[in-house]
Amino acid sequence: MSKVIQAIRGMNDCLPSETNVWQMVESVLRRVASNYGFAEIRMPIVESTNLFKRSIGEVTDIVEKEMYTFDDRNGDSLTLRPEGTASCVRAGNQHGLLYNQEQRLWYMGPMFRHERPQKGRYRQFHQFGIEAFGMATPDIDAEVIMLSARLWKELGISEYVTLELNSLGSNEERAAYRDALVAYLTQHEDKLDEDSKRRMYTNPLRVLDSKNPDVQAVLVDAPKLSDYFGDETNEHFDQLKAYLDNAGISYKLNERLVRGLDYYNRTVFEWVTDSLGAQGTVCAGGRYDGLVEQLGGKGTPGIGFALGIERLVLMLTSLEKANNVRPQVDAYVITLGEGADMQAVALAEKLRDQVPETRIQCHCGGGNMKKQMKRADKSGAQIALILGEDEIANQQVTVKYLRGQHEQQRVSQEDVAPLLASLI
Ligand code: ATP
Ligand code: MG
Repeated sequence: MSKVIQAIRGMNDCLPSETNVWQMVESVLRRVASNYGFAEIRMPIVESTNLFKRSIGEVTDIVEKEMYTFDDRNGDSLTLRPEGTASCVRAGNQHGLLYNQEQRLWYMGPMFRHERPQKGRYRQFHQFGIEAFGMATPDIDAEVIMLSARLWKELGISEYVTLELNSLGSNEERAAYRDALVAYLTQHEDKLDEDSKRRMYTNPLRVLDSKNPDVQAVLVDAPKLSDYFGDETNEHFDQLKAYLDNAGISYKLNERLVRGLDYYNRTVFEWVTDSLGAQGTVCAGGRYDGLVEQLGGKGTPGIGFALGIERLVLMLTSLEKANNVRPQVDAYVITLGEGADMQAVALAEKLRDQVPETRIQCHCGGGNMKKQMKRADKSGAQIALILGEDEIANQQVTVKYLRGQHEQQRVSQEDVAPLLASLI
């Protein structure tokens, strides 16, 4: 027998037993985005490699080691998108959506990074992201963060996530700080690990991100980025904090929060959790006022975030918040005796007409009552609708409740539609 072909490592199937949780999460994401006036944009999964090099930055983990890059048959270098913001800006520039306009956009779909697969970290994973263009004032920063906070509320996980907030200042402020930081780190180079030494030359702010306790110890006395902020940056950040305070959204200021992508300025934030082990960041984002221009468009400010859907689903499952997700089937139709099958199919069709939201599965393939009841139970349905000769003769249906303590009852076929509607 030939070997069964397996999926690529780190690229997962989402099986029918999981898709209902995914669909629930996706529908909350879509609905909350539209609650804030955001519209969906869909971009291709493959882009020119240059797009990501120019936006994410040459010396970032993503571009240095995580991209799936290949030459196509014409010899062009293409890359499976590792994130959505660059593609979104590319699309906005290409279609003239950005300059002198305001856009509130969201996207959702697979992203690809060649990382070491582990819980919460995969090579194909899914992000939901939002991007707001054309607004430089902190009110939109606040709205974007409030949108994310509402997601957790709707998903029932607010108490398990914490907002970490920082400002990266302007490019000029960061450049001045960068010099001071490098000067400081150079004095302490002997105490840095290899990774931090390398970053010190390529992308020094990323040293602040180091998880190594020895490096963290060196950083305690390092110069602070906020000391290099001018009035505008301070005012922007203060106003954002005031908006969040006013909205009752608590946050933890984290001066070490720098984000792994180069294009951020001013506001950056992450939502982190203890419920996921090492992969603690559920959602991350910030302002990127220079990115549109960097990718060839006319200067347009932007701010957004992306969240990992796998990490959300893992959280919901481990916190047992996924238990009350609606099952794939509401009612399972069972038949007994000659001629009942056709009647059952017709009844199910009528019910689907009457209650379009309903999910009805008709038993197919025959079998006795016991077998059919077993299937009904396995389907996850709340009720079984049983049609036997006697029911058919009397235009009735027997309703058997499969969950909870309800007496079985015989009802007129006319009354099944309202009963179904009450279940969903
Ligand atoms: P991390 O520090 O965990 O590597 P990141 O900073 O690389 O995250 P972003 O590029 O900001 O992540 O992506 C936003 C979100 O997408 C992350 O907060 C996370 O929830 C999710 N994410 C990123 N990479 C992966 C991955 N390889 N597998 C699953 N989810 C991911
Ligand atoms: Mg990463």
